[in-house]
Amino acid sequence: MANAYDAVVIGGGHNGLISGGLFAKAGARTVVLEARDKTGGAADTSAPWSEHPDFRVTTYSYVMSLMPPTIIKELQLERHGYKVTPFGPYYQAFPDGRSIKVYADDAKKNFESISQFSKKDAETMPTWDAWLSGVADVMGPLLLHVPPKVGSMKPSDLLEQLRVVWSARGLGVRGVGDVTRLFTMSVTDLLDDWFESDEIKAMLTINGVIGTWAGPDSPGTAYVMLHHSIGDVGDGHLGSWGYQEGGMGGVSDACRRAAESFGAEIRTGARVARILVRGGRAVGVALDSGEEIRAPVVVTTIHPQIAFLRLLAPNELPADFVRDIENWRTRSGVVKINLAISELPDFIADPGKELQDHHTGSVELCFSPQYAEEAFQDAHLFRKGAERPFVDGVIPTTLDKTLMPEGVHNFSMFTQWVPDDWAEEPHRDELEQYADRVIDLYDSLAPNFKASVIARQVLGPYDLEQELGLIGGNIFHGELSVDQLFHMRPAPGYADYRTPIRGLYHGSSATHAGGGVCGIPGWQAFRQAKRDRMLAKRAQ
Ligand SMILES: Cc1cc2nc3c(=O)[nH]c(=O)nc-3n(C[C@H](O)[C@H](O)[C@H](O)COP(=O)(O)OP(=O)(O)OC[C@H]3O[C@@H](n4cnc5c(N)ncnc54)[C@H](O)[C@@H]3O)c2cc1C
Repeated sequence: MANAYDAVVIGGGHNGLISGGLFAKAGARTVVLEARDKTGGAADTSAPWSEHPDFRVTTYSYVMSLMPPTIIKELQLERHGYKVTPFGPYYQAFPDGRSIKVYADDAKKNFESISQFSKKDAETMPTWDAWLSGVADVMGPLLLHVPPKVGSMKPSDLLEQLRVVWSARGLGVRGVGDVTRLFTMSVTDLLDDWFESDEIKAMLTINGVIGTWAGPDSPGTAYVMLHHSIGDVGDGHLGSWGYQEGGMGGVSDACRRAAESFGAEIRTGARVARILVRGGRAVGVALDSGEEIRAPVVVTTIHPQIAFLRLLAPNELPADFVRDIENWRTRSGVVKINLAISELPDFIADPGKELQDHHTGSVELCFSPQYAEEAFQDAHLFRKGAERPFVDGVIPTTLDKTLMPEGVHNFSMFTQWVPDDWAEEPHRDELEQYADRVIDLYDSLAPNFKASVIARQVLGPYDLEQELGLIGGNIFHGELSVDQLFHMRPAPGYADYRTPIRGLYHGSSATHAGGGVCGIPGWQAFRQAKRDRMLAKRAQ
């Protein structure tokens, strides 16, 4: 049968491509179905301006950190173009003409930079780094664990629960206390326990609120800070991030090429309209066009509210699972601003338009935890775009010459917040005004900035939902709040990449370790399907 496969993967984001590649590598006849006319999902490079067809930007996600070497090796991604360069220092310029630069590997420079704001904080920083690194050493590997069914008394589930507890044995009593703090505290409170200077706290605050519909004063944001501090790009530095050559689309392209090299078929313009179920088992999918594709294994890597609430009928799923997915929280109020600029920012604090260290890392806009909290409250309480948004900014073209023509740079700005319900309407004019404010704020720190902007693209929650199917504009397919992590992601009892339907697996960012371009969900969904198949064969 032409339309019969061993495995069908819904969604051609990086997770779908990774999952599809692994099935194909294992010898399964595999097809990956992507609704858009291109693969990559939120890991994308594009040329958004028709008047500048040679200007390319990293459209949505912008930096790599969390992809485990195991996945890179299994799919031979480096052979297919995966190439990440660790980026430069954290950089924040302040209105008073000072700036902070913090490097991944230069304790002496960091001490000098931080001392300008607080000698005590400069002395504390190595202890903080060691503390965080100790927790991350234990928590990091948990990202590769299949979450157990917590509460289940089945012997096999009890064994899995014990395994997780055992793997965290390195924490000790104090470590468990630290983890409890990280899971329950606000990043503001946690940082107050360690540091005194607002400027230093600002630097550490940003990681606690990336992609989160919560300000730094909200409990649970300390964990988000840890999540974004775990990865390394293979250079051994905790929490260091890097640029993929050719923008984040380069990661997905590498995943796609790898999948195709193993024989996977990748179809674009193929929107799945239904997951086909017979007798409680997935048997394939139907496309928008009416075409049916049959396979005994179906992997969804799209937002769970689309997969489980739109592509399946409620009576095909247990009622409590449907309720959990309906209640899945998926807001974030993120606005991505992509700029083409004709010269690098000439900061008052660090003059010069020529390429310097501080242009090559994160070029931030967040003066204090209070600054970020006010940005959240503008959106949350006052229901307007932040007056002073915070920005996690990068200029990848400082280290990657492949994106833009000589002399032009891409300033990629990840910003927050606008109201979460802006996912329902485009709010174009307000978004443009919001982007104006961001540009003005940078201009106040680097007075050549505004005039250097050649072109801009402003993408709000509505665009993220319409273009990528990120419901509510949440960048991770669902909030990384403590109640939506580990054994709860996306629902208790179904965090093991399986679903209530036999043969249907879930490998989107809404599963454990998801949230980020790490490929773990797609990898795990494949592994679970393979395990089930082996068990079924053994039982025959
Ligand atoms: C603005 C932004 C900035 C981010 N920044 C970073 C960052 O710097 N670093 C980082 O690690 N992570 C970042 N993230 C998060 C990260 O990009 C995502 O978590 C990750 O890319 C999701 O990958 P995925 O494969 O699970 O899903 P997606 O990338 O969302 O892919 C899902 C795919 O499924 C397709 N699809 C949807 N419905 C259907 C259907 N019915 N049929 C067929 N196909 C369908 C979609 O078109 C899409 O291509 C960011 C995300 C955004 C949006």
